[in-house]
Amino acid sequence: MTKAKIVTDGEGRFYGVQVLCPGCLWPDGRPSAHLLQTDWVAPGMERSTHARPDLWTFNGDLDRPTFAPSLLCKSHRWDGEKQVPYVCHTFIREGRIQFLDDCTHALAGQTVDLPEIAE
Ligand SMILES: [Zn+2]
Repeated sequence: MTKAKIVTDGEGRFYGVQVLCPGCLWPDGRPSAHLLQTDWVAPGMERSTHARPDLWTFNGDLDRPTFAPSLLCKSHRWDGEKQVPYVCHTFIREGRIQFLDDCTHALAGQTVDLPEIAE
C-alpha cells in the first residue's frame, strides 16, 4: 500500500500521479482522487503525449509523496437547488496533506495523513 499511484494512459505510458483526498469525499464518504501531472516520469516508462510535464514537481516517493507547488481545485457543488463554489487547496508534503484556509470542505486549515491507495 502506498499513498500515491502512477496513472497511465490507454497505451501504458506514464500520465501522472494520483493521490486520494480526504477532504473531497464522494457522497458515500470515500475520498476522491486528485491527479497531478509531474515533471517526474516513472522509471522505465515513457511519458504520455497527452501529459503535461510542467505542472508539478514530485519527489518520486510513492510512500511519502511531496509535490510542488500547491494543488488548487475549483468547481461547483449542488447545495439543494443552487450551485455553490467548491474549493480544495492543498500542499502535499512527505505523505501528509495540508488543507489551506480557503478550502470549502470540512478539513480546511487541517493537516492529515494521505490515505493509502489500494493497488
Ligand atoms: Zn481535495
